[in-house]
Amino acid sequence: MRYSLHRIFVVLALTLAGFSAIAQSKHPSDEVIVQLQKEALSSDLAWNLLASLTSEVGPRMAGSDADQKAVKWAVAKMQSLGFDRIWTEPVSFPRWLRNNESARVLAPFSQDLVVTAIGGSPSTGGPLEGEVIQFDTLEAFEAVADEEVRGKIVFLSTRMPKTREGSGYGKTVVNRSRGPFVAAAKGASALLIRSVGTDSDRLPHTGMMSGSEPGDPVPSAAISNPDADNLMIMLTRGEPVRVRLDLDVGFNGEATSYNVIGEFDGSEGLKEYILLGAHLDSWDLGTGAVDDGAGVAIVLAAAKLVNDLPMRPRYGTRVVLYANEEQGVHGGKAYAKLHETDLTSHLIGAESDLGADRIYSFKTRVSPEAEPDIALLARHLNSLDIEFDTTEHADGGADVGQMRKLGLPVIDLNQDASRYFDLHHTANDTLDKVNPDFLRQNLAAWVTLVYVTANSTVAFGPVEPSE
Ligand SMILES: [Zn+2]
Repeated sequence: MRYSLHRIFVVLALTLAGFSAIAQSKHPSDEVIVQLQKEALSSDLAWNLLASLTSEVGPRMAGSDADQKAVKWAVAKMQSLGFDRIWTEPVSFPRWLRNNESARVLAPFSQDLVVTAIGGSPSTGGPLEGEVIQFDTLEAFEAVADEEVRGKIVFLSTRMPKTREGSGYGKTVVNRSRGPFVAAAKGASALLIRSVGTDSDRLPHTGMMSGSEPGDPVPSAAISNPDADNLMIMLTRGEPVRVRLDLDVGFNGEATSYNVIGEFDGSEGLKEYILLGAHLDSWDLGTGAVDDGAGVAIVLAAAKLVNDLPMRPRYGTRVVLYANEEQGVHGGKAYAKLHETDLTSHLIGAESDLGADRIYSFKTRVSPEAEPDIALLARHLNSLDIEFDTTEHADGGADVGQMRKLGLPVIDLNQDASRYFDLHHTANDTLDKVNPDFLRQNLAAWVTLVYVTANSTVAFGPVEPSE
């Protein structure tokens, strides 16, 4: 009697343990994460998506015909990947065109400069000639009297430092973003900048000037690092350096593109979802492989791999491929404006937009209640050599960061940006620069992020809205 009662208890205990194991396996499970990472580390999906985008669409500057083609590409890819819902949301912005651009040193020597117009630049209206006056920094330029620069072509020669986290960009990009307006305010005729880039290739880096500075900018262009070096030598010879700049570029009407959105439903009929983002547009010089084709490929592939599991995550996965990030984060701003009222349907956001090299750390901006999930995430990212960086909060990136400003919790998976600014916004931004193994490591990190956050049983927010 005692014996059989004991047996009953044992059987009951084992049965309960079995139920609890089944219940737990629905929610973040170590085995599933390890298996997902393994799958990602041998997956060609992200590479194939990236190869498709860069070859079948190629450069896709916002407002161009190729941009429309990219939107169609994205919708078709989401369909073939089996997203449950796919739709587009219009995004309008001023259309900027690059027709022709050239620059030549006329004196004291004569040779061509490799140049590209800065996005947003007006046309020179035919060849514009002038004497060059050089400054080491924008601050040094701002400090001089207007008479010293009036009618001249200002040359800002600041070199961007190379760092793993890409922090040199913020320090030098002011030359490109504000320089054209400062030059106009001081009465200069045009602006040349040393490219905001860390390479020594003879390729200039384009990029947008600020859209929020007061006044009209002067015609503005970037020259390659080697050309900037060459010009610096000429400027040491004690004779006036004269340059001819010819930019046939400028704004022409309005354009409409689209944020392309796809969703996988969760397994429990919940209406909330996690938000994954990357931008679909690129600059026109390269094929937009690292900026931001890689991000597009990574978030699409991560959403697909996780939602192909026999047991989908609890919550849905929403992927937004944003329109026109490059010329002023138009897609990210439009999305935040339209979705401000359903902010709380978004559990947490993350964006991939710093190339395709290895992820080495991650940051968070979540409520303290999310600690168990973040600890789980940290443990599994650690196996991919990714450290939890607690020195500062995540910012969510250019596009998803627009929702963070409203209070969306975010996670940043930080890519090694040491090589990124060699390629960024140049003709060298092409598929061959992407290392397939690094791309797979990105995918493994992203499937981990998607799986853990979309199975969450804790609240990631609210977090304070922040600028
Ligand atoms: Zn980008």
